[in-house]
Amino acid sequence: PKLVYDFAEGNKEMLELLGGKGANLAEMTNLGLPVPPGFTITAEACRAYLATGSVPPELADEIDHHVDALQQRMGKKLGQADDPLLVSVRSGAAVSMPGMMETVLNVGLNDDSVNGLAHQSGNPRFAWDAYRRLVQMFGKTVLDMDGDIFEDAIEAAKAAKGTRNDLDLDADDLKALVDTFKKAVHDATGREFPQDPRTQMDLAIEAVFRSWNADRAVLYRRQERIPTDLGTAVNICSMVFGNLGMDSGTGVAFTRDPATGQSGVYGDYLQNAQGEDVVAGIRNTVPLADLEQLDKTSYDDLMAIMAKLEGHYRDLCDIEFTVERGKLWMLQTRVGKRTAAAAFRIATSLVDEGVIDTDEALKRVKGAQLAQLMFPRFDADADKERITKAIGASPGAATGKVVFTSAGAVEAAEKGEKVILVRRETNPDDLHGMIAAQGILTSRGGKTSHAAVVARGMGKTCVCGAEELDVNVAQGLIKVNGTVIEAGQTISIDGTTGEVFKGEVPVVPSPVVQYFEGSLAPDAGDELVASVHRLITHADEVRRLGVRTNADTADDAARARRFGAAGIGLCRTEHMFLGERRESVERLILADNDAEREAALAELEPLQRDDFLELLAAMDGLPVTIRLIDPPLHEFLPSMEELAVKVALARERGQEPGHDAALLTAVERLHEENPMLGLRGVRLGLVIPGLFAMQVRAIASAAVELKRQGKDPRPEIMIPLVGAVQELHLARDEVEAVLAEVGVEWSIPIGTMIELPRAAVIADQIAEAADFFSFGTNDLTQTTWGFSRDDVEGAFFSRYLEKGIFAVSPFESIDREGVGALVRTGAERGRATKPDLKLGICGEHGGDPDSIQFFHEVGLDYVSCSPFRIPVARLEAGRSAL
Ligand code: PEP
Ligand code: MG
Repeated sequence: PKLVYDFAEGNKEMLELLGGKGANLAEMTNLGLPVPPGFTITAEACRAYLATGSVPPELADEIDHHVDALQQRMGKKLGQADDPLLVSVRSGAAVSMPGMMETVLNVGLNDDSVNGLAHQSGNPRFAWDAYRRLVQMFGKTVLDMDGDIFEDAIEAAKAAKGTRNDLDLDADDLKALVDTFKKAVHDATGREFPQDPRTQMDLAIEAVFRSWNADRAVLYRRQERIPTDLGTAVNICSMVFGNLGMDSGTGVAFTRDPATGQSGVYGDYLQNAQGEDVVAGIRNTVPLADLEQLDKTSYDDLMAIMAKLEGHYRDLCDIEFTVERGKLWMLQTRVGKRTAAAAFRIATSLVDEGVIDTDEALKRVKGAQLAQLMFPRFDADADKERITKAIGASPGAATGKVVFTSAGAVEAAEKGEKVILVRRETNPDDLHGMIAAQGILTSRGGKTSHAAVVARGMGKTCVCGAEELDVNVAQGLIKVNGTVIEAGQTISIDGTTGEVFKGEVPVVPSPVVQYFEGSLAPDAGDELVASVHRLITHADEVRRLGVRTNADTADDAARARRFGAAGIGLCRTEHMFLGERRESVERLILADNDAEREAALAELEPLQRDDFLELLAAMDGLPVTIRLIDPPLHEFLPSMEELAVKVALARERGQEPGHDAALLTAVERLHEENPMLGLRGVRLGLVIPGLFAMQVRAIASAAVELKRQGKDPRPEIMIPLVGAVQELHLARDEVEAVLAEVGVEWSIPIGTMIELPRAAVIADQIAEAADFFSFGTNDLTQTTWGFSRDDVEGAFFSRYLEKGIFAVSPFESIDREGVGALVRTGAERGRATKPDLKLGICGEHGGDPDSIQFFHEVGLDYVSCSPFRIPVARLEAGRSAL
């Protein structure tokens, strides 16, 4: 295959091959925009390198060919002594991973050509600074040297000069630094810094390939659920310089505000600087609008290009650009990352502008984004002590204790503490800390700083550029306007307004939740709520999947109903056996004879009946799937260890342990090594006489009572953990007998959960005895993988995620190939027996956006999820249907 593409040969559809940066550089080149010439080495070449440990043999020739063409076009050569061609070597994967992988700039400089660059630019300081940067980046990135070696040398040079400012180092100082750096390279590696530009390029390309597997990149991919095997493309781009003087500069621009979605001029600009300086947030930038005063021609050009790009991509674009001595160059564009709120507002704005239709708008928002909009906000009316206001870079309301290091954040989070990571600026190595923290606060950098970009990508609250904060990491304190805040003290940050408060600020429901609750009208003037309303309404119109809720209480049922649930897909009745009712369950378990057992059941029945009365009333007119008791009974008894200690203590004191001793005997009798694979689900019902019957009597009599009151109760009875059709026949016979005995005159559906692999495989038989199926994907995942759902997350999942065995826990998002195949089989075989068999899913996956897509594809009728995920499920069900 072709491994290298000139920018003019690609386009934006070639994302997987050329990576995001390469594909969009190609697209801009072909749009006639000012892109510095260059070429892209494909991600396929990277994958080959990662697989074999060496670059594909044919790559060198292809690169030669493209380097020749580039040199011809530019009229100069790499390393040319009097006027060198310089290139950047940049990573660019199909999925954006800001700052996670490597870049080497100024490739092509060496001891000779640095003089040519000095002469050509008329600026020796600039040339030696460029060479200094090359050796430094090369040392760090390609040769894996410790970056501090270089930073320390720069500090030493400044100290010797008695200055703290980089800009005070002149050409001679920088020249001396280059010597120091080259010597450091030799000391660390035993080799000279390579003078041959092509060798520099080849080594830099390999380093970019390798950086795909750098720790922070691996961590980022895990966090963002990005597949581990994509690899990165490498872009070789002729250099343009934003640091040639005050008529040069570099910046980042958005065609709309990535925080709110509003249109306007958004971005940051930094005069006399290179791109890396802006993204690193090391120096504070000026607003993009100021460029109009600084350089009107470049500003006007940029505005025209931004309009063209947005029209072309039909979406918010973000852009990196450089001005070199008054000439504008485009270095990157892409459909830009945005906050959840901006995603909704941009989508509906584009509909109003006639750019896209409502289907397309719905495709452009995600369930996960809607979930973010449902997080609480700070209460505007609460008393609060504001200590500063800076840039709201990523929305949300976060409260936590101040920590100053990423390691500190991780440590605190492991102890279950909530923290705010406070830094001057963040860099890619802070990713661990950013993940662990509730929010991030920085004192430097704008909306496009590393902290801001990464936080927005993760949906994490971030306030940046809080210049009033004097962050002193060594002393562990922040000084701000006369207030001192120490590590460990609590602060609250508002990522929307940029405000920072001392102490904990109370939160209130978000406007989006108020809308779903029915307490805020869609046309009340909140534009975000209006957008959400339009898109969820459209999702409801187009979706085929129904959305029900998992709920055990009338309150949850009522909330879910307000949120749009079309019934209950799973009521776990065991939750009704907790609290004071444990004692009755205890008596049931301890019962020695039929009379005692019946007495215990008789105590429970009216309580259960009241539960069902409330639940069915709350869901009046809608189906309520009630699952008969599932967990092993000893879950309702005290722990064996505790009881054993109690009994032993009593005996030691010469007391008679009595009840406790009897309980201990029962607990020992019921003890199971693998309770999840033991006496639970339908097995319990078949083994303990009267247990299922009691529950069914409670359901039936509650329903009969509600009918009598003129209501419309619609219970459905569900039998858990069935593996053989014989089990279901037996349980069903018992249920039907009780329904008849209570005098139910209409038909109550009786169905089963499909949560064992065997059940999925023989679903055709099971369907004979079932009116409906509900896939219990929690147990189905547990039993298919042989993973204990209660143990594995802490035990080894993090290792598995690191090793890329899976990108996300299969308990969170359905494993399509394994567990998903069983769901598909179960659905197909069940419907082969009964074509109109109703099919639902009630495991945790019912509220997971990716999984919902899958359940739509396999033709289920509904998903059931917790009340707060109902809106997300509605939205995703709509998106699945498009
Ligand atoms: C399931 O197993 O997916 C399920 C919904 O039941 P539970 O989580 O109660 O075992
Ligand atoms: Mg289950």
